[in-house]
Amino acid sequence: MPPALLRLGPVCSVLLLAPLGALALSSSPPSPRAGSAGFSWPLLVREPARQEHAADRVRTPLDNPDANKLVIPQHAKALVIAPHPDDETLAAAGLIGRVLEQRGSVRVVFATNGDGYAEAVAAQRKGRRLTPEDFRRYGRQRQAEAQEALLSLGIPASWIVFLGYPDGGIDDLWATHWAEGQPFVSPFTRLSQAVDGTEQGPKPAYVGSNLAENLADLIRAWQPTMVVFPDPRDQHLDHCTLGVFVLEAVREIAKDRRAPMPQLLGYLVHFPEYPGTPVWPDLARRSGVCGAKDNTGWSHRVPWTHLALESEEVAAKEAALSRYASQLQVMRAFLLQFVRPMEWFSILGREEVATIPLQHAARSHRGAR
Ligand SMILES: [Zn+2]
Repeated sequence: MPPALLRLGPVCSVLLLAPLGALALSSSPPSPRAGSAGFSWPLLVREPARQEHAADRVRTPLDNPDANKLVIPQHAKALVIAPHPDDETLAAAGLIGRVLEQRGSVRVVFATNGDGYAEAVAAQRKGRRLTPEDFRRYGRQRQAEAQEALLSLGIPASWIVFLGYPDGGIDDLWATHWAEGQPFVSPFTRLSQAVDGTEQGPKPAYVGSNLAENLADLIRAWQPTMVVFPDPRDQHLDHCTLGVFVLEAVREIAKDRRAPMPQLLGYLVHFPEYPGTPVWPDLARRSGVCGAKDNTGWSHRVPWTHLALESEEVAAKEAALSRYASQLQVMRAFLLQFVRPMEWFSILGREEVATIPLQHAARSHRGAR
């Protein structure tokens, strides 16, 4: 793992939206979660305030939203890939509804069951000693909530895949547990292989090569026209590393030049100032994978697009989110920030597919071997 990367904890957390600067509107209080001591944002440091002239200001996609509207074509096939149950609703409930309205189809893949959220499990257990079964039960609860949320959006259970990889361990799979024979063991559930999977039979061990293969198999088998997945600049390690995994899977698929290339749409959940204040696009264009400094410039080039939601679509998103009782209980204000009339997506292209997985591998233990 590159030294610049921060271990931000296993699940979506209010801590990650700690205000970066004076413009922050997040209503989320700092979390007392373990590992948060001394937390800071060394990677995206705002430049000192200076007199800003209109001509100096970087234009962002927020300046003229009409110029970058996302139009969902009829009969689209959207594969939505989420690190944890709730990310799909936060990032793309409106997109999911719009695809269905346009007579398209949707599949939702959860990389983890969100079964490593120690603070939330502890709150449920009211101070009692936590056992691996507590975390596994919590994962099943989040699965059930995901199914209810997605059903409210029109997605039946048969369109949902729970891969069951370890919450809080996606970056470990990439960096130190890539190969078969060295499975990662979840410190929460004590599992070393998926409890769910894409098919009957042995469940995949917790190694990165299995996750990459699962994602590639899903894309090859279903042939989506669009893949909606975590933008690799997200600053939650499960999110950004899953984004790299998806690009790696697409990179493998693209080796066959005849293979159809889906549209790749990235989304942010844990990123400074996102989505509440208008400075996030500028921060994003200066950010690399997992918030590292972007030395290559790809981040400057990646355009953003947004889906403008009708009021009933926003209401449907809020209704879906209301099914996540376990999450609302612990980070309500953070989650509700995402109930707004725009969903933003980065448009990642062949260049990002070709370069980001290799760049990330080169900075990680796996690449150094
Ligand atoms: Zn998440």
